[in-house]
Amino acid sequence: MLDYLSLLLIVIVIFYFLLYDKSAIKKKCLSLPDLAKYKEKKKALNKVGELCCYNCSGRKIKVHSVKFKDKRRTVKKYYYQCKRCNVLLWRSDTK
Ligand SMILES: [Zn+2]
Repeated sequence: MLDYLSLLLIVIVIFYFLLYDKSAIKKKCLSLPDLAKYKEKKKALNKVGELCCYNCSGRKIKVHSVKFKDKRRTVKKYYYQCKRCNVLLWRSDTK
């Protein structure tokens, strides 16, 4: 009986951290600039005028998606991260 309880407790803790982690990601995502604002940032474009990471000027960028739940629907938003230094770069409503 005790084993079941402790197992249940562990599961609850894991779920709590998963949910907590997701809300942290959502907050981060919303705090990111959109693409137009990102381009105004220093070092957002390299010498050739291509988009790159402002931190390490890396050109390899990965896309993540986050789901936001509205009252009626779920909205998917995207955020972009540098593959080299893992800095979050900008957010977008479309891919
Ligand atoms: Zn970078």
